[in-house]
Amino acid sequence: MIRTADMTDLLENIAELTHLRNRHELELAFAALVYQLAEATGLTIWRVGRRRDEVRLRQQVTLPACLPGGEVRTIPPECLSCLDTAHPVRSRVAGSKTVRHVYPIHDGSRVTGLLELTRRQNFTRLEEHMIASVIKVYGNHAGLLDYGERDELTGLLNRRSFSTLFNQASMRTCGVIAVADIDFFKRINDEFGHPYGDEVLILMGRLMEQVLDAADGVFRFGGEEFVVLFGGANTDEAWQAMEDFRATVQATKFPQVGRVTISIGLAAFGPSDTGASAFGHADEALYVAKQRGRNQTQCHEWLTAEGCLPDTRKPANVVELF
Ligand code: GH3
Ligand code: MG
Ligand code: MG
Repeated sequence: MIRTADMTDLLENIAELTHLRNRHELELAFAALVYQLAEATGLTIWRVGRRRDEVRLRQQVTLPACLPGGEVRTIPPECLSCLDTAHPVRSRVAGSKTVRHVYPIHDGSRVTGLLELTRRQNFTRLEEHMIASVIKVYGNHAGLLDYGERDELTGLLNRRSFSTLFNQASMRTCGVIAVADIDFFKRINDEFGHPYGDEVLILMGRLMEQVLDAADGVFRFGGEEFVVLFGGANTDEAWQAMEDFRATVQATKFPQVGRVTISIGLAAFGPSDTGASAFGHADEALYVAKQRGRNQTQCHEWLTAEGCLPDTRKPANVVELF
C-alpha cells in the first residue's frame, strides 16, 4: 500500500530523476523508484526499437537485479498487447496471486518503452494514478534526453551521445567501431547544390539504419562522416556488415545525384580503449581506404598485421579528441 505520507519522499525522488542526464542512469533510477513505490516482486523496462516496419522490444533493466549476462527474459504476451493498444494491460499470473501490469511509456508523441511489473495484489485507484504519473514524468524526461542525442538532419545519434554509448558498450564487452565517409561529397554540393547534398545525407542515414540493424549505435559525427558501433562483435562480423552497407550504397541511385560511394575504416576496441583511441584507429584505416582508391572497407588490425600501419596501441600515442 502506498502511503500518502511518503509523498514528500516521492516528490524528492522524482526531482532527482529529472536531474539525471544519462539515459542509462535514468532508466536504473526510474526502475528502482517504481520497484519500491509499487512494492513490486519483479520489474522490467523494455525499450521499443523501430527498424524498417518492424517493432522490437529490448530488455533494458530487470529487477531484482540479476548478475551481468544473467536473466534474459522472454517477452510476455501482455507486453505485446500493451504495445499494440498503447494502453495499460493487467492480468493475473496463472496459478498464483501475482498480478502482472504492463504500462506504455510515451515520450509525448509515441510509445518508446514498456514498464512491466509484477506484484501480489491489484493497485488501488490512487496507487494506479501515482504510478501512471511517475511514468509520465519519466517518459517526458527520457524523450527530452533522446531528442538531445539525435542529429537534426538525419535523425541518427549525434556525436555527443557517442561517448556515453561507447562507454556502455565497451564496459559490457569488446567490440568494433567503424568510421564511414562519403567519397567526393564536396563535388555533390558543388555540382547539385547544398539541398541535394543534404538529401544524400538523409538517405545515407536511412540506409545505415536499415542495413546495419545489428549495430549498437549509428551516429552522424558531423559533415558527411558517420560512426557505427558493434558491441561484442569481432572484426570479421563487422567487416561483413560494413561491406554489405558499402555495396548497398554503391547500388543505390540517389535522386538527381545518381551514384554515390563511401569509404570505411574499422577497428576493434577493448576495455582499455577510450572513445577517442578507438575512433582514431578506425580513422587511420579510413585514411588508407581513401588512399587506396575509395569505395572500400579497411580494417586497422589487418593493416597493422600487414605492416601498412604502425601499431599505435600505446597509451602515449593516444590523442584525446573528445
Ligand atoms: P573525400 O572523398 O576525400 O572524403 O572528399 P570529400 O569531398 O567528401 O571531403 P571534404 O572533406 O573535402 O568535403 C566534405 C564536404 O562536406 C565539405 C562541406 O561543405 C560538406 N558538408 C559538411 N556538412 C554538410 C551538411 O550538413 N550538408 C551538406 N550539404 N554539406 C555538408
Ligand atoms: Mg568525404
Ligand atoms: Mg569527411
